[in-house]
Amino acid sequence: MTEGENNAQRDEFRLLDFQDRCPDCDVAVGETHLGTSDGGCDVARCLVTGLQRLTCRYEHDCGRDVWTGWWPGQVDCERLGWMIGPGLPDLNRLYTEATWDAERCAWVTTT
Ligand SMILES: [Zn+2]
Ligand SMILES: [Zn+2]
Repeated sequence: MTEGENNAQRDEFRLLDFQDRCPDCDVAVGETHLGTSDGGCDVARCLVTGLQRLTCRYEHDCGRDVWTGWWPGQVDCERLGWMIGPGLPDLNRLYTEATWDAERCAWVTTT
């Protein structure tokens, strides 16, 4: 049995798969991302705008986003059927065509 030469190509596309720890701040599923006062984790979302908390420029309280095991927006893309392929959510479409519903903490479509 030989070493598979195709192994090197497996990671060419980084699929967004379930991860039991946040890839940035390393908290476990169900824990809030680190650094609520000054941005901190760049995966965490602002719960008011749905966008990246690190780049949120509002003076409001961005809330305490929790790591769910999935990249922000992935679950929304799957619910809306906006997938480029298996494990590849169309996040660009999500952020341009959907609206953040702060009460439900979910991206929704207005139509
Ligand atoms: Zn994090
Ligand atoms: Zn914010």
